[in-house]
Amino acid sequence: MSESALQIKDLSVHYGGIQAVRSINISLQPGEQGTLIGANGAGKSSTVRAICGLQPYSGEIFWQGQSIKGLHPNELVQKGIVLVPEGRGIFTRMTVLENLQMGAWHRRDRTHVRHHIAQLMEQFPRLAERKQQLAGLLSGGEQQLLAIARALLSNPKLLILDEPSMGLAPIMVERIFEVIHSLRTTGITLLLIEQNARLALQATDHAWVMDSGTIPYQGRSDALLNDDRIQQIYLGELPI
Ligand code: ATP
Repeated sequence: MSESALQIKDLSVHYGGIQAVRSINISLQPGEQGTLIGANGAGKSSTVRAICGLQPYSGEIFWQGQSIKGLHPNELVQKGIVLVPEGRGIFTRMTVLENLQMGAWHRRDRTHVRHHIAQLMEQFPRLAERKQQLAGLLSGGEQQLLAIARALLSNPKLLILDEPSMGLAPIMVERIFEVIHSLRTTGITLLLIEQNARLALQATDHAWVMDSGTIPYQGRSDALLNDDRIQQIYLGELPI
């Protein structure tokens, strides 16, 4: 098997006396789409925050074979590790276009950035129509699209989406998952954090189920989708 893109070894996260993540292991291959699913408070965001340099931890996290422990979040972005945080983190008092430009803050190739923005405007016509509007005036779904488009402008190698469907109307959830699907052709390695376990399992290759800081189940997403225990516990389906 080829070298992992992302490898998390014995990761633990503490908040004072509370242990939110308990010695978990995750490994994603280059270009693979993975998902971390589980209920509220399972430890998903804590795991993501550790990967992105936003949270101290014990254990090791390797990116393309090298430890990234202790690196600043900006250094991690420069290595291609880009987070779309829960709540989207867009700049509501800046325009759509300015938000997109912010995504390219570390890129020197200004001509390529302009082309990239034009290409994203084609891919996301809703953003093109509203490019001079303040981002705070967009709907929740449009803000999520903007957050993803802005992350793509960072040229991510590992894109982490934390709860992208949260609070969105069903039609926008569908659109967000179409976008996730379209990322398959880009070679970007994806880690999707989701409470909507069914959609996440349908969209990805591999899944880790988090529960109280541990990973009791993991495997191919399609296998977990058809697993009786997963269906009963996490997909809300009663045995027949
Ligand atoms: P959610 O979907 O609600 O964000 P999650 O699976 O992402 O849930 P975390 O946010 O990682 O879970 O939280 C895991 C545990 O750590 C929870 O018990 C939570 O209360 C606790 N926790 C998270 N952040 C902090 C913090 N800053 N201080 C103290 N405890 C925290």
